[in-house]
Amino acid sequence: MTLHLKDLDPAALREAFAERGLPAYRADQVAGWVYGRGVEDPAQMTDLPASLRDELGTDLVLRALEPEAFEHSVDGTVKGALRTADDRIVEAVVIPEEERTTLCVSTQVGCPLACSFCATGALGFGRNLHTREIIDQVCRMREGLPPGRTLTNVVFMGMGEPLLNLPEVIPAIRTLLHPRGFAMAPRRVTVSTAGVVPKIRELLEAVPVNLAVSLHAARDEVRDVLVPINKRYPLAELLDTLRSLPRLSRRHPVFFEYTLMEGVNDDPEDARRLVRLLRGIPSKLNLIPMNPHTDAPYRPPAPEVASRFMGELVRGGLTTTLRRSRGGDIDAACGQLAARGRAAGRFTGRAVASQGERGTAEAPS
Ligand code: SAH
Repeated sequence: MTLHLKDLDPAALREAFAERGLPAYRADQVAGWVYGRGVEDPAQMTDLPASLRDELGTDLVLRALEPEAFEHSVDGTVKGALRTADDRIVEAVVIPEEERTTLCVSTQVGCPLACSFCATGALGFGRNLHTREIIDQVCRMREGLPPGRTLTNVVFMGMGEPLLNLPEVIPAIRTLLHPRGFAMAPRRVTVSTAGVVPKIRELLEAVPVNLAVSLHAARDEVRDVLVPINKRYPLAELLDTLRSLPRLSRRHPVFFEYTLMEGVNDDPEDARRLVRLLRGIPSKLNLIPMNPHTDAPYRPPAPEVASRFMGELVRGGLTTTLRRSRGGDIDAACGQLAARGRAAGRFTGRAVASQGERGTAEAPS
């Protein structure tokens, strides 16, 4: 039977080896090669007996994604287009900063939530990614890091809604955190949701990661348009759920994302309303000026408007940051992941390209 190694976290790998009559330390050695050293060819796992190397070589699938293209932004951001075995394109982004190097991973091909300002939302839904395809974004993007850089943070903020794919996302997080996996500290992993309320607890009970919530509006009428899942789980329900989470504190806040769009959600009154709404929830709010793209009519506000909005939040006592956008020149910024490079390479003309992307991202019917 074929086994996809990266679908299993290091603890589950031990169990899979045990079922084959192999001792736990053999599983640990393999995990050490794959996650610790980035070696994926069993033939190179020199501390394994030759018979086991052969067995692994035939029974075990170690790679789930192949690099298709890498694009480099002037600011150092790198976007990888990675190909799945069934020819889908998955995008992941490395964002180097002075103190850290963050990898932004995707959890679905396309996204079913259709947020009106997001390029991924405009693609429609393709399919859920497997655990191995989430983990391989880490493996493939890590290989391209400049010498001396290591990945310090992983954010689940790429294509897709992680909370609609928890059965695949949770094992991936376990591999990120496991000492025999990528050994990352839990607070260096952040999962972002558009607000799939009933799944929030399930995630946080399984893994102690940071939660980020894409808020974008302080009123249901506006949020219904920007983040349509708000019609199912309106603001009051979302915020009540967050208020009831155990273990939130100043040190372990909820991270809110608020994409500022000119004339839509950037009024100082919205800021004051936000302050009232978020009272009692230990939080940090991240303002992101809208990254414009061809699939949505929204624009970022003028810098003075953004500063004024931020000023209101700070005055109201909210810890707020204004995010510097990264990778915009290669369509790698927040909300711009739509596998365009691939479509552009395949078709001529932008209109055709965008039709093409939609076609390839649709669920098989
Ligand atoms: N589905 C999850 C994970 C995606 S995270 C979620 O919604 O949280 C991607 C982040 O980028 C979200 O906060 C999203 O709202 C934001 N985003 C989407 N489109 C954007 C755009 N055009 N400009 C700026 N931010 C955008």
